[in-house]
Amino acid sequence: MDLLDTLTAKGLRGEVPTREEALAVLATTDDELLDVVAAAGKVRRRWFGRRVKLNYLVNLKSGLCPEDCSYCSQRLGSKAEILKYTWLKPDQAADAARAGVAGGAKRVCLVASGRGPTDRDIDRVTDTMAAIKDADPAVEICVCLGLLSDNQAERLKAAGADAYNHNLNTSENTYGTIAKTHTYADRVDTVRKAHGAGLSACSGLIAGMGESDEDLVDVVFALRELGSDSVPVNFLIPFEGTPLAKEWNLTPQRCLRILAMVRFVNPDTEVRIAGGREVHLRSMQPLGLHVANSIFLGDYLTSEGQAGQADLDMIKDAGFEVEGAGEATLPRHRADVAEAAQAAHAGGSCGTAASACGSGGGCGPCGGHSHDPEAVPSEAASSASVPSEAVPSEAFPSENDTDGELRSDLVKVRRRGAGTELAPNA
Ligand code: SF4
Repeated sequence: MDLLDTLTAKGLRGEVPTREEALAVLATTDDELLDVVAAAGKVRRRWFGRRVKLNYLVNLKSGLCPEDCSYCSQRLGSKAEILKYTWLKPDQAADAARAGVAGGAKRVCLVASGRGPTDRDIDRVTDTMAAIKDADPAVEICVCLGLLSDNQAERLKAAGADAYNHNLNTSENTYGTIAKTHTYADRVDTVRKAHGAGLSACSGLIAGMGESDEDLVDVVFALRELGSDSVPVNFLIPFEGTPLAKEWNLTPQRCLRILAMVRFVNPDTEVRIAGGREVHLRSMQPLGLHVANSIFLGDYLTSEGQAGQADLDMIKDAGFEVEGAGEATLPRHRADVAEAAQAAHAGGSCGTAASACGSGGGCGPCGGHSHDPEAVPSEAASSASVPSEAVPSEAFPSENDTDGELRSDLVKVRRRGAGTELAPNA
């Protein structure tokens, strides 16, 4: 197929395809699927070999969010029966992180629900990072606290954070239909703040919310332009009790085409299969490893993943290997870009331009909080502090608006690990 030959050749050279070529990947048929995966696999192996980077999520604060992101089980008004708790203590978070690192994770992702952190929250996360790095100085730490205010990214960088996660999630055109309490521009601004502070960029998307192929291509090109170093590709987990509970728009084949498109547009960038891997790729997960070079180990923020050991077995059975702590994730020329940005920051000349390297948030539902959570009782959090422009959940597709079904057999709420007495899944 001419298209795949062209995309492979461009990817091997580190070149970005045209928008039309990216759209054409999404329009391929199931008969062409293995050819698409094979072509993306060549690009993946060119830049990342057979390595799979493992990342481990620690949900520092769960639920209680005043934002209205319609895909999120922690959102304002969510009736999802997820774990709800306020900030973990540093030693509790370090214990959870240790389990993930022992399971093979190279990066720990510290996430808190909310709009954005207070300065006191930055202090809490600083203490948590110190506890984690005391135990294992080599572990990479990515922080995801929502929208950043001035100087907060610099404080996180100085405290030892390696990366900041803030996802764009969907296209600029569509963003207003999935959240009203903040804007796409707010998200871009935080990615740029993190980048400007010299933090590695992690910013990705969520597929399956009813978006068009054009929306998907738009957000993936936007992430490339922002210079994200890692692009988490989330597949919507339709939680019961959220506006998108019946949005079952994805097939395993569609997920693989989306992953391939993201790989072709980001040939030399870490592409991570993020939330929804087990729910939507299901038995096709190992094929996803031929395209993406990174996954989360074990559970997600509020939902369960497959057993950590099953992740390790899958990687080995598919002929891949877990990336070691001493191995660089990005190819040398991309690492050079990141280091140049950090050096420029150290020299005071980086500013907020986002075209060189990356920044952004990593996991699907991210977080941060503009209010002190200890001042907001958990029972009241779902109704408190609603920005005036917030829209009721009825403004989004509701459970009555679609023909989809609730799939509690596929969506399993997390009941172990951080915030519980039970051992983490790692
Ligand atoms: S994605 Fe983040 S900001 Fe949005 S509702 Fe969920 S926790 Fe809150």
